[in-house]
Amino acid sequence: MHYFEYRNRELFAEDVSIRELVREFDTPLYIYSARTLRRHFQAFDSAFQGISHLTCFSVKANSNICVLKLLAEMGSGMDIVSGGELFRVLKAGIDPQKIVYSGVGKREHEIREALLSDILMFNVESRQELEKINQVAGEMNVQARVSLRINPDVDPRTHPYISTGLKKNKFGMDLEQALSSYQLAMPLPYIQPVGIDCHIGSQLTSVEPFLEALERIKIFYGQLVDLGMEIRYLDLGGGLGITYDQEDPPHPAEFGRAVKDSLKELDLTLILEPGRVIAGNAGILVTRVLYTKKTPSKNFVIVDAAMNDLLRPSLYGSYHRIAPVQEKDGSLCYVDVVGPICETGDFLAQGREIPEAEQDDLLAVFSAGAYGFTMSSQYNSRPRPAEVLVDKNEVILARRREVYFDLLQLEEQCF
Ligand SMILES: *Cc1c(COP(=O)(O)O)cnc(C)c1O
Repeated sequence: MHYFEYRNRELFAEDVSIRELVREFDTPLYIYSARTLRRHFQAFDSAFQGISHLTCFSVKANSNICVLKLLAEMGSGMDIVSGGELFRVLKAGIDPQKIVYSGVGKREHEIREALLSDILMFNVESRQELEKINQVAGEMNVQARVSLRINPDVDPRTHPYISTGLKKNKFGMDLEQALSSYQLAMPLPYIQPVGIDCHIGSQLTSVEPFLEALERIKIFYGQLVDLGMEIRYLDLGGGLGITYDQEDPPHPAEFGRAVKDSLKELDLTLILEPGRVIAGNAGILVTRVLYTKKTPSKNFVIVDAAMNDLLRPSLYGSYHRIAPVQEKDGSLCYVDVVGPICETGDFLAQGREIPEAEQDDLLAVFSAGAYGFTMSSQYNSRPRPAEVLVDKNEVILARRREVYFDLLQLEEQCF
């Protein structure tokens, strides 16, 4: 569900015409819908009504500060994976007691910054990290609340690059190692193990893998209780999928029911780290057709957005629906929608049937609100696109378009 809809055959973001946004802000342009973000957060968070829980938006999915502020106003916490993300969420005014910090490679200064802000907890992914946090906390004479990230070895049945809870993945610790790590953590003077964490993957389209993970975690929790540990939090991570094409993921309410059902006897505060399900379908990328080119084997539509702006198709072979901003009659055509970058892998869609596109047409690339702008780069010295947030008929420039000078700003010493 989202609020990008056609009115008189013209695409709108809520009450604002996309064509008008493009007139003002040019292309490529990321457009987010505030109403959609609120709706998705609400749908997700309310699915856990009735149990103690904290929904922490996964900042890496969309870290625009306007988006973070909007979610914070709805009561969202934040799941961060770097010092840079900590900096962002603090600037967005998030209560540090609603911040959890995940990631396999936290640096010493990042740990110090997080302790200084007194975040809710670290999700710890290795023994050495545990010892490092204990050391840094010791130097600061504070206590670090931690969960250990366990890798329950369940197959999330998603793309291999976004599976994270399999034995062979770099994330977390297997159950055996995790148990000994909790035992290691117990006597550490500056560590308080308060929770169990896991995140098994992204774009999951059924609840079963989550429930499988939960079954293993519950058994593991029992072992920790037997050791005399006081575990208060269970972090189930993120990963609930969305519809890009034909996928039919469970509604958050169904996900919530299943999880609540599985946890009902346990007195734990549940933490959730949704990213994609909140932001994915709350954003589109609008691009302009530069040229069309027919070759003997293919029809190319060359647009002004490229893999540096939206990497997912190149990185994962991901599907993003593409449709004209101005609906038109006429024939459908199989095309590759490609960008200007000098890489064969630079495409937004391959072999896609869309209405025949002409020079200067505007195309909307849907489901671009998560892992879109946050994965962008300046490859080929392309300034990054602007981001706007639409709220009914109000338009907020959430990030201005980069200009050439932005490309060189950090190399000033060389000229
Ligand atoms: C990426 C990530 C998430 C969010 O995943 P989604 O699939 O976007 O919900 C949550 N937790 C951790 C630890 C992650 O790495």
